[in-house]
Amino acid sequence: MSRSYASDEQYERWYLVECCRCERRKNKAGSWPDGYVCRTCADRALRIRGRCPGCGADRVLPGRRAGDQAAICSDCAGFTTSFRCSRCTEEDKLHRGRLCTRCTLRDRLRELLGDASGEIRPELAPLANSLLNAERPLSILTWLYTRKGKTESPETLMRALGRGQIALTHEAFHTLQPWRAAAHLRELLMACGILPRVDKQICLLERWLIAHLNTITDPDRAQLIQRFATWEVLPRLRARAANKPITPFSRQFAGDQITQATAFLDWLAARQRSLRTCEQADIDTWHANHAEHWRRRLRGFLLWAMASKLTRGLRLPAPVTTHGAALPQPDRMALLGHLLTDHELPLRSRVAAVIVLLYAQPLSRIVRLTIDDIIYDGTRSCCASANHPHRSPPPSRSSSSPGSTSETT
Ligand SMILES: [Zn+2]
Ligand SMILES: [Zn+2]
Ligand SMILES: [Zn+2]
Repeated sequence: MSRSYASDEQYERWYLVECCRCERRKNKAGSWPDGYVCRTCADRALRIRGRCPGCGADRVLPGRRAGDQAAICSDCAGFTTSFRCSRCTEEDKLHRGRLCTRCTLRDRLRELLGDASGEIRPELAPLANSLLNAERPLSILTWLYTRKGKTESPETLMRALGRGQIALTHEAFHTLQPWRAAAHLRELLMACGILPRVDKQICLLERWLIAHLNTITDPDRAQLIQRFATWEVLPRLRARAANKPITPFSRQFAGDQITQATAFLDWLAARQRSLRTCEQADIDTWHANHAEHWRRRLRGFLLWAMASKLTRGLRLPAPVTTHGAALPQPDRMALLGHLLTDHELPLRSRVAAVIVLLYAQPLSRIVRLTIDDIIYDGTRSCCASANHPHRSPPPSRSSSSPGSTSETT
């Protein structure tokens, strides 16, 4: 957009006004019967639909009735301009050519996804339809808008998709840029059934894996790591994703297993060894010099290498499991009392901590709980976690053990 003003002072004078709706000094959208309105207030007003209290018509209500400020239609408010689309006659925010948002989006999608005649390939029709029928077409239009100073944008990706330059496979999306827009586009393609559903965390890991493999300079080591990821790490995650969504922690752990395996191969190479010539003494030395955190992350790789006959049979130290001392019952009761009565603490944290103390649920599960997991039958409330509804203990029994009063039904 060319700059049609010479100074900031001119910009301020020509384009900024005090909005009559929000009373802030902002970019002017127009002069309406009740005064100047800013773009935000104009967009908001044009989203209000319903029966006009002035004439009873069912339509968009951008105006304000003098006195009670009730939302009224443009005719009753005395607008001199119409908000009707020049093509479909729907009332809406108008774009170039006095077209409504949905008509503008339809043209934009034809331009991006269509061939020379504007015809959209049949395999992409579900994507065009789902975007066109989105509840907020304006947010889709904004998403497709090219960002200032950026050559790559969702628009570029959509155009490449329309021209058949991007294969309709998950693999094709791993290396696309900008990655955020590519990830969102992939979500959209999965939502409308063009791409098969895959777990979001697995997608992220696969994308990360390509970049990680590119950092390994030795081709033999790179090939080993790729085999480990392809035949051991990813299949395990995929099997788990079939039952429940993969958590960011699990994705991180899988990534750590791959980085640790890479670091181990580098460590062996520095000792003039490979996986095939690795001795028990090497394994013992590595374990003696690394903390349990890293040992746990390398274990999967070594077990896989032995099972795949890539190395000789080696003895691995048993993993150390540390159990924290159980919280004494009086301490637990005191903590619960504190959490239930201390209104200074944030409510979210108090609720999460109470669930930990009552049901010993891991935090990764608690953060996935939604309001629908709390069932209230009129007299008692239940917390349905992990498919087992837990009835919360009634207040009168609070003197007994909280753990023993939570019934699993
Ligand atoms: Zn405003
Ligand atoms: Zn009216
Ligand atoms: Zn229209």
